Amino acid sequence: MSTSKSDHQSFSQQVLTWFKKHGRHHLPWQQNKTPYNVWVSEIMLQQTQVTTVIPYFERFMSRFPTVQALAEADEDSVLHLWTGLGYYARARNLHKAAKIIHRQHKGIFPDTVEGLTALPGIGRSTAGGIIASAMNKHAVILDGNVKRVLCRYHCVKGWPDQTSTNQQLWEIAERYTPTENCADYNQAMMDLGASLCSRSKPACDLCPLQDGCEAHQGNLTEKFPEKKPKKKLPVKTAAMLILQSPDGKKVLLEKRPSQGIWGGLWSFPEIPVDHSPGSFLMVNGLKTSGDISKWQPMRHTFSHYHLDMTPVLIPLTRPQNTIMENGRWHWYDLENPSQLGLAAPVKKLLGTLKNNLESSC
Ligand code: SF4
Repeated sequence: MSTSKSDHQSFSQQVLTWFKKHGRHHLPWQQNKTPYNVWVSEIMLQQTQVTTVIPYFERFMSRFPTVQALAEADEDSVLHLWTGLGYYARARNLHKAAKIIHRQHKGIFPDTVEGLTALPGIGRSTAGGIIASAMNKHAVILDGNVKRVLCRYHCVKGWPDQTSTNQQLWEIAERYTPTENCADYNQAMMDLGASLCSRSKPACDLCPLQDGCEAHQGNLTEKFPEKKPKKKLPVKTAAMLILQSPDGKKVLLEKRPSQGIWGGLWSFPEIPVDHSPGSFLMVNGLKTSGDISKWQPMRHTFSHYHLDMTPVLIPLTRPQNTIMENGRWHWYDLENPSQLGLAAPVKKLLGTLKNNLESSC
């Protein structure tokens, strides 16, 4: 594939002309483009669609309007505002990076790709997005949407995250990104990928790039980007112990270690699915009425495995004072819930417990 400078200019010009009329210009993070706003939006938009991100972004910015406010927050309140967005490492890294920016950089964001990528959770594309959008400088981005457009435009072989393909895509992205209007061009490419050049059934007839697009011209849009060969995910199992106070109003939650799945979030204590909860109760000085029941298992899929969780409902017979609240344990009040970061299945189970409690009153 060889392209000339005028090809690059015509590519970016077509994209920019389309953007003026059809691009998104009123997203919340486009209104006040500070490095902080752009950074938070870029991180939330990884793996998540714009419409889902908007309310999360607005709540987050109203609670943590500055990098200092985020740096000074406790982890639970950050994770609480991330509950439901998934990929919680993003929130933990955001929090860690905010502390570094606040303490080591006096609240000022580094203004180079190298400086930004030295912070936790900021990759090359996110750094490019912040520099172009909030600092008005030339910088290249390559998120999932841009990758899809470029893969199709040049029928690039291999799946986009494969090292050699990724490298090739960065080279193409660098060639096409104009020095002028870089922020608009980046936004235009993301919008084009999210709207017209969608995963299935791209709207090529409306696309400004249709004349030069190799996949469209060759009727190959379904073949690009190539898909990573699928591996069958292994299945793991666990029992989730729902320990209920005698009045049914409180349940015990445990904070998960910061590394590993749902790191730093609150969840029900877990035991192997084929173990009886007896030893957990004994070790923690808890007693049950014996009316233990199991609910239907629920599946949660992570990128590397499925987790089949069996909720085990255990009504306790005496007040929950044998496990004191501390950094690890929390008696979650269903009627008056604390603001905690919760994994999605835990949030769902807490909702069911609350509904059951209300219907039994
Ligand atoms: S012509 Fe179709 S496949 Fe090519 S970039 Fe546009 S929308 Fe994507």
